[in-house]
Amino acid sequence: MVNRERIVKTLLDLIKIDSPSGSEDKVAQELTAQLAALGGIIKNDTYGNVIAVFEGTGEPLLLSAHMDTVEPGRGIEPVVDGDVITSQGETVLGADPKAGIAAILEAVASIKESGEKHRPFEVVLTREEETGSEGAQNLAYEKLQSKNAVVFDGDAEVFHVNTAAPGYYKFDATIVGRAAHAGLEPEKGISSIIIASEMVLALPVGRIDEESTLNIGIIKGGSARNAVPEKTEVTGETRSRDSQKLEKQAQIFRDVCDELSKKYVEAKIEYTLTKNFSSFSIPDSDLFVRGIGEALSSLGLESKFEPTGGGSDANFFNAKGIKAVVVGTGVRDMHTTKENLNIPEMVQAAGFCEKLLLVV
Ligand SMILES: [Zn+2]
Repeated sequence: MVNRERIVKTLLDLIKIDSPSGSEDKVAQELTAQLAALGGIIKNDTYGNVIAVFEGTGEPLLLSAHMDTVEPGRGIEPVVDGDVITSQGETVLGADPKAGIAAILEAVASIKESGEKHRPFEVVLTREEETGSEGAQNLAYEKLQSKNAVVFDGDAEVFHVNTAAPGYYKFDATIVGRAAHAGLEPEKGISSIIIASEMVLALPVGRIDEESTLNIGIIKGGSARNAVPEKTEVTGETRSRDSQKLEKQAQIFRDVCDELSKKYVEAKIEYTLTKNFSSFSIPDSDLFVRGIGEALSSLGLESKFEPTGGGSDANFFNAKGIKAVVVGTGVRDMHTTKENLNIPEMVQAAGFCEKLLLVV
């Protein structure tokens, strides 16, 4: 049985080990030791991700969370007040991601205690999720068997299941025109701000459709009131949950830049377009998703399958052919110093995790 006292202790102990992105070694060591003590075969990879494999009967399942926290996340002092845990107010709490890790560890501890028959499963705890999922990108996928994954990294209750997330491109353009005195000889100049303006107006800025967006976030340009601006930089991003639409939006950006280069032959327009992560969308009718819904309803919980606007390790697992969804862990106000954890909801997430493992 999932044990509230034990999971709270696990969480508090993990929170007290600092693990800002890039400095996960200490917490990884501790988690490796705990997973080994629970009977896991340790297969940690060279990037520093923790991998523990547990034998069992049936379809293997991957359980995942990340190990890193956002800043300010050093010297965190958790405060327990009834059913809620917060930080002292100067740092984040670090329940994102450690409530997810605690839920997984508690579920494993519980099934090991009961001696019940369970399916094989792989626990994967990644590094550097918060800075762009470098851990998930560099994970040793060849060590994994699972075709399905549940990532314990969402906010609110466990029945909030993210089954879709957008793919994401970031782009930067640097436009170099020609400077000239604005009052004496403006016709000798080429205004990079004008070119940037044309660029912005030619792009489908804002909500493109229900699952796609494009944003220009920063424009920096010019050097003086009385000079034709020589250099302007444009910084933006585009997202879509549909991978074809995402590629189309990226192509629009390239086309707009190329056309402006042709129109302003004496200006220099350089750009970079980088895909940060791929989209995924798993239909509610999918067998794995239906199984998640059944596990939740057997606990008296009504599942809410919903898309998310952000990216996570799940984007990379899906891109690697492991069908992955993200579930809530009882955390709210993530990435702020008001971050808080609802203990009964974390216990519920552990109960759900246990249920998944007992489906053989
Ligand atoms: Zn997280």
